[in-house]
Amino acid sequence: MTIKPILQLGNPNLYKISEKIHKSELSDISVVVQDLHDTMMEFKKNYGCGRAIAAPQINIFKRLIYMNIDNRSIVFINPEITYKSDKLYELWDDCMSFPNLMVKVRRHKNIKVKYFDLNWQEHEVEFEGDLSELFQHEYDHLDGILAVMKAIDKKSLSFKPEYLEFYKKL
Ligand SMILES: [Zn+2]
Repeated sequence: MTIKPILQLGNPNLYKISEKIHKSELSDISVVVQDLHDTMMEFKKNYGCGRAIAAPQINIFKRLIYMNIDNRSIVFINPEITYKSDKLYELWDDCMSFPNLMVKVRRHKNIKVKYFDLNWQEHEVEFEGDLSELFQHEYDHLDGILAVMKAIDKKSLSFKPEYLEFYKKL
């Protein structure tokens, strides 16, 4: 079990562009997948949320995203967004790299994603709504883009209410 520190907002490494993974790296990548799982589960234990994480968040600059939803894991190697709907929607987004902050962003309602799995099999999936926005958020990390950089306007930042509750108790 390896819990890695999650890079936090302000760390310049979060703005790096991650590299494509080669098939020959798969055994190293499966170790990284386990680290991403352990790190995200630890975050979930502490914050009660966390459904996906991108490798650069743990200082590994490879095009790798790990999702875990209802105890089902999906590993996305070298993902590519092959379709984005014209229809956009607005939501308050958050991130394990700034756990107490929310940012209002616009995301595509539907997307299609091509990726490789840990057996180097190619897949294509379609995401809608919250999974679509979750994937777009993680994908941006691979290109060094954070949700705060996509804030709709200057009033699109807010602390989470539970963070403020914490201060009320002091
Ligand atoms: Zn994030």
